[in-house]
Amino acid sequence: MIAKTEYHRPQSLTAALSLLGKYGKDLKILAGGTNLVVNLKEKTIQPKIIMDIKDLAEMSGIKIDDNGEGFIGPLATVSFIKSWCISHGSYDNLRTACQHLGSFQVRNRATVGGNLCDGSPCADTAIALLTYDAKLVVNAPGQERNIALDHFFNGIGGVDLRPDEILTQITIPKLIESRGEAFYKLGYRKAMTIAIAGVAVLITPEQTSPERIKDVRIALSSVAPIPMRAQKAENFLVGQQWGKELFEEAANMAAGEAAPITDLRATKEYRRKMIRTMVNNALIEAWDKAKMKFGDSLE
Ligand SMILES: Cc1cc2nc3c(=O)[nH]c(=O)nc-3n(C[C@H](O)[C@H](O)[C@H](O)COP(=O)(O)OP(=O)(O)OC[C@H]3O[C@@H](n4cnc5c(N)ncnc54)[C@H](O)[C@@H]3O)c2cc1C
Repeated sequence: MIAKTEYHRPQSLTAALSLLGKYGKDLKILAGGTNLVVNLKEKTIQPKIIMDIKDLAEMSGIKIDDNGEGFIGPLATVSFIKSWCISHGSYDNLRTACQHLGSFQVRNRATVGGNLCDGSPCADTAIALLTYDAKLVVNAPGQERNIALDHFFNGIGGVDLRPDEILTQITIPKLIESRGEAFYKLGYRKAMTIAIAGVAVLITPEQTSPERIKDVRIALSSVAPIPMRAQKAENFLVGQQWGKELFEEAANMAAGEAAPITDLRATKEYRRKMIRTMVNNALIEAWDKAKMKFGDSLE
């Protein structure tokens, strides 16, 4: 049984902001409800007001503008994003994250905004978006803030959102065409499983000297209190000439940066070991894909 609450379903962002201004911390936002409804049933949260945002059309959809910048509405469902990425041949890490999130039914309801705002360290779309240096637009009555996704998460379940704020847009800066991407999720099963550990990598070779690494982003899930970037490993790789030993060393560094715990899914030792292997494999795969774009495989 869910405790008695007042239900509101605003028809515009303006109306939603006015409800946020009026009720603030007594209000909880409902998007797809795949996390929130579970929490309501388990009574881990008991808000006085629920604001269902499904009708806010201005917060749906995805597009890439003429300058190559991507805009994702937080209400875009995981299924919708997956299909969009397939049909547009773009955002490989995000597509793979969406393909492996939950079940068919969950993907049809779950939104990308809910996946981020829930603040879980295992959020699949979070690590994909971290490799794109995604930014968030957050609104409160009469106010707007921009937050780098990398600074959004703070502690398990914690995000940089005030009670009167709502996530209204996710933006992806223009990505370099010659990048390679790789996304790995380790779970108990191949489907319907929360990550024991997850890795997303985006790597770009130097245009003029394609054996050198121009840029690399490595994001990890389920191995720290928040979805995180392995920044020491990234800094170590940038500017270097690629090599199998180099990638192994970077994978070791990333495993060292992770702060896994032992829980019902796995021990911290197993998680750290798997992160090392997964980062190494993801670097090789992403580099190979990038090099293929130069018409030159690693073989
Ligand atoms: C069976 C099952 C399997 C799952 N498997 C996975 C999995 O494999 N990988 C994974 O990453 N997740 C998984 N999840 C978790 C969940 O489906 C995702 O986190 C989902 O994306 C949450 O989105 P939602 O729209 O349902 O959010 P909701 O449940 O509606 O909301 C989640 C939280 O975000 C807040 N919120 C939502 N939208 C906004 C917004 N625009 N602005 C501010 N706050 C907002 C809500 O207030 C709430 O606190 C699973 C869940 C279930 C039930």
